[in-house]
Amino acid sequence: MLLASVAIGEAAQDVLVPDELRPWQVSGQENGERLVGQVLVWHDEMATAELADAERALARYRFEPLRHTRSSGLLSGHLWTYMRLENPSTQRREVQLEYVDHQLVNLDAYERRLHDDAQTRFQPLASLAMDAPFYERLVPHHRLVVPVVLEPGETRELLMQMRFPEKGFFFPSLRIWSPDNLRQAQLAELMLVAFLAGGLLLMALVSVTVGVATGERLFFAYSLYALTKIALWWTMAGFTHQFVLSENYHWSYISITGALVIATGLWFARHFLQSNRYTPKLDYLLQSMMWLAVVLVVAAMFQLQAMAVILITLLLFMYPLVCLGGVLRWLQGVKEAGVFALAWAFLVAGLVAQALRDLGYVEHNFVNYYWPAVGSYTEMVVILIAMGMSLNRLRTEKDAAEQRYLIQLENTKTELEALVLERTRELEKAKAAAEQEALTDVLTGADNRRSFFRKASQLLERSRHRSASFSILVFDLDHFKVINDTHGHKVGDQALRLFAKTVQIEIRDTDIFGRLGGEEFALLLPGSNDAAMQTAERLRQVVERLRVIAGEAEIRFTTSVGVAHYRGERNIEDLIYKADVALYDAKEAGRNCVHLAD
Ligand code: GH3
Ligand code: MG
Ligand code: MG
Repeated sequence: MLLASVAIGEAAQDVLVPDELRPWQVSGQENGERLVGQVLVWHDEMATAELADAERALARYRFEPLRHTRSSGLLSGHLWTYMRLENPSTQRREVQLEYVDHQLVNLDAYERRLHDDAQTRFQPLASLAMDAPFYERLVPHHRLVVPVVLEPGETRELLMQMRFPEKGFFFPSLRIWSPDNLRQAQLAELMLVAFLAGGLLLMALVSVTVGVATGERLFFAYSLYALTKIALWWTMAGFTHQFVLSENYHWSYISITGALVIATGLWFARHFLQSNRYTPKLDYLLQSMMWLAVVLVVAAMFQLQAMAVILITLLLFMYPLVCLGGVLRWLQGVKEAGVFALAWAFLVAGLVAQALRDLGYVEHNFVNYYWPAVGSYTEMVVILIAMGMSLNRLRTEKDAAEQRYLIQLENTKTELEALVLERTRELEKAKAAAEQEALTDVLTGADNRRSFFRKASQLLERSRHRSASFSILVFDLDHFKVINDTHGHKVGDQALRLFAKTVQIEIRDTDIFGRLGGEEFALLLPGSNDAAMQTAERLRQVVERLRVIAGEAEIRFTTSVGVAHYRGERNIEDLIYKADVALYDAKEAGRNCVHLAD
């Protein structure tokens, strides 16, 4: 009783004798006005009162006036209401009393003709149950509606009992309608819910399509979330009972679909925010919420109402954590997470509005009744935008990564090419050096025997075709062994180097000079025979004047020269042989002189 006084909210002394209650004057134009001031309420806390008990309570003035349209807040027990309807006209009139919320499980109505001496007891008028087959409803409306037909001039007393299996939020202030107006309002509401459901369905389909196209699991999670929402709002608005499960409906379906929405919503949110990766501590909470929602599904299925209420309350209090997750990710630089947080905030605002309405802090009205649904719908639209942003970001990132990869590839290629070029150059250099080495005499730097023969043979071939003339000079240093023996091998080497260098300085670029071996050298001179003889003599004289300094000593040496002119020899060996013979003659003749072959 105390609870009812607080919840229904009027002072105890404000007791109204039922006979003083002003009856509602039925006009036929009723347009959903809420019944207050003309309704008395009694809270049967023990939930034991029968009709007779209620009649007795009414007679003992235990009913109190209802002065507001708010909810009772969460109450156990049953709620009884009493009102009077008067038809002042001369026609028969019908009015329909609509229970404003979707959550009442049973509504029994009794009627009595006022001052009808024949009828002192209330008679059953309507026995409505949320679980009863839809076709049993007296008015085919998605919420519970009691129709009352009034004869001309008649005043009718109505006594109603509102029941939940355990606890519930009662909205004792009914809406009164003329049948036509109620039909129109119902149609408008059906259109709104159909629009919301259609929109959600469209978003679910779009999301599935994108999911198939991109292979992103997130989009499937989203469509599942959207589909459970359709199921919830459709069920909550009463349309599941009206259109889908008209025979086998049960009041727990609202809790079950609600729990499924919470579970899929959290699953989606965790996926979207990648909370297990980026906000792991918060993810523990979100994950536990998800499992609580799964437990809630089970509790709702088994109609464990107390447990379900506790779980729902807990979950709703934790709901803003998802917003927090969005904000945290946003602070981490993910723009779409901010949009997501905003979307979730719409939903939370809707749920807060609903909770305030259910708990009786604010009046029930169309706005706060549909706010959760519209907020939830808005949430889905905004989340879709966020997902679009996310997809766009992923694509941009992928493009950028590809671009970086290509640039890197290009750089690597260029580097590689440069490296290969450098290596090639080095190799070429090494090869050239090796070739040079292979053709050069290490000690003197003159052409070695092989190189000399090759170059000389080439020149011989050319000269043969052009009938050009050339000569070969063969040098052998005189008594060289003595230099070695007297001054050492090193000094001998020094002398050899000096000799070679001197000849190289003295000759022309076109002349070919090489070391045949030991202290023997050869010089090929293109040109006239006379010039060759003169060069031989000139060189002999130059060598004669050379000095090798070895410590205190000044070493001098001479060379003998054998000369052979080209006379069409078949190869260079033949010509050298001739020059060698001439050299032998020079040695025989006493050395340090030039001899011409025969
Ligand atoms: P000649 O030609 O006047 O008859 O007397 P020779 O002493 O020069 O005669 P021979 O050809 O017998 O000796 C050549 C010497 O040259 C022998 C060898 O020790 C020396 N010789 C050969 N190649 C080199 C060399 O690369 N370095 C030095 N230091 N001596 C060399
Ligand atoms: Mg010799
Ligand atoms: Mg010699």
